[in-house]
Amino acid sequence: MTAPPLVAEDLDLHHIAKAQFDRAAPFTSNVDGWKGMAQWLFEPERIVEVSLPIRRDDGYVFMFRGFRVLHSTVRGPGKGGIRFHPEAGVGEVKALATWMTWKSALVDIPFGGAKGGVVCDPRRLSLGEKERLTRRFVAALGENIGPHTDIPAPDLYTDSQTMAWIYDTYAMMHPGNANLPVVTGKPVTLGGLAGRAGATAQGGVFVLEHYLEMGGIPGLASLDGARIALQGFGNAGRHAAMLLHEAGAVIVGISDSSGGISCETGLDPGMVGRFKDETGSVVDVPGSSPLPPAGVLELECDVLVPAAIECQITAHNAPRVKAPIILELANGPTTPAADDILSERGIKVVPDILANAGGVVVSYFEWAQNIENQQWDEASVMAQLRRRMRRATETVMTRRVSMVEAIDVYRDRWHGLVPSQRKLGLPDLRTAATAVAVQICRDATEQRGVWP
Ligand code: GLU
Repeated sequence: MTAPPLVAEDLDLHHIAKAQFDRAAPFTSNVDGWKGMAQWLFEPERIVEVSLPIRRDDGYVFMFRGFRVLHSTVRGPGKGGIRFHPEAGVGEVKALATWMTWKSALVDIPFGGAKGGVVCDPRRLSLGEKERLTRRFVAALGENIGPHTDIPAPDLYTDSQTMAWIYDTYAMMHPGNANLPVVTGKPVTLGGLAGRAGATAQGGVFVLEHYLEMGGIPGLASLDGARIALQGFGNAGRHAAMLLHEAGAVIVGISDSSGGISCETGLDPGMVGRFKDETGSVVDVPGSSPLPPAGVLELECDVLVPAAIECQITAHNAPRVKAPIILELANGPTTPAADDILSERGIKVVPDILANAGGVVVSYFEWAQNIENQQWDEASVMAQLRRRMRRATETVMTRRVSMVEAIDVYRDRWHGLVPSQRKLGLPDLRTAATAVAVQICRDATEQRGVWP
């Protein structure tokens, strides 16, 4: 087993995204055309940083900071959520925007990638303060967002109410226009789609089901009876727990930012959700045993679902992960060093850009519905989501097999060309998914050409 590194890991998310890109790049075809292309494909198109002075409820004016990064518009307008988080920063938002570009390409929707972040602790903001902060952010971004340029959506600590404020502010700034497609994840009464809130989790469950059906984990062909541990009980984690429980899985552990709980015979996610609504946390749910916050990642189970924040599975704890499969509902929960350790231990990681793409797929349906002024029903949204997620799963699995088969060809091709990439290991699912996505972006970039 690989020993944890003696030096601290580089947890800079943009460096992590670059490491993933560098691993995947050699597996994309037409290598000669790469000269100078790699930088173009990786670096963001635009970074906007704004100051947001907000009057707090106690009368003080507090200065918040916000970012919006547009990573790529090569395949369509920028698309990606806005998060409210104390640790949001430009490096993090750049990485998240990059992953949005890859995600949209992988599930074949006509968007590029973008992301926004406001540095704040949303749990310490009143509803009014959150509304003023959201509206000020939209006003400060000005023409940097728009229905055909860059389309925000929910992310950590933002929801359909936040999206309604974004829509309203933008509509006030652009009277007389058809503004609904400027933002997705809106309330159903305001052009939103039924099923959008649970779409990230539902997409992940569709991927997991198909991966198991296709023999991804020998001896585990379906979710019925599968033992699942979930880190995070926000939008993605909570919906995932409900859906997995409905599919017959046994939820053996759940955690949130306050702590974790486990139960050998299975937790009832509906009951855990009601408990959290009342007390603010899952800790102390009756009938459960307490776990330290990161303890859930090391539980004995069949599927581990990180559904919280980045860099949770690192070189430090990867040697102790017991699940044979990890379904990444969070963005960036596993570091490259952890990927190496897990891969060496035979643990499969279904990467974020595939596993959590259900959210942006349904966002695309919402955007298309708003553009057409139509109303889609939930059943057809879910059927289309299922089809796209299964297709993307197959694409990644097939690509990985062909990459493994041709590994010597790739090694020969790259040997001596780019020193840092000489060490070409067997590709994991993340590298396969990234290679598919980067290849699509690369082809589109080449087809468009270099202007002027
Ligand atoms: N924030 C979500 C994500 O990371 C959804 C983005 C969207 O719907 O645009 O994928």
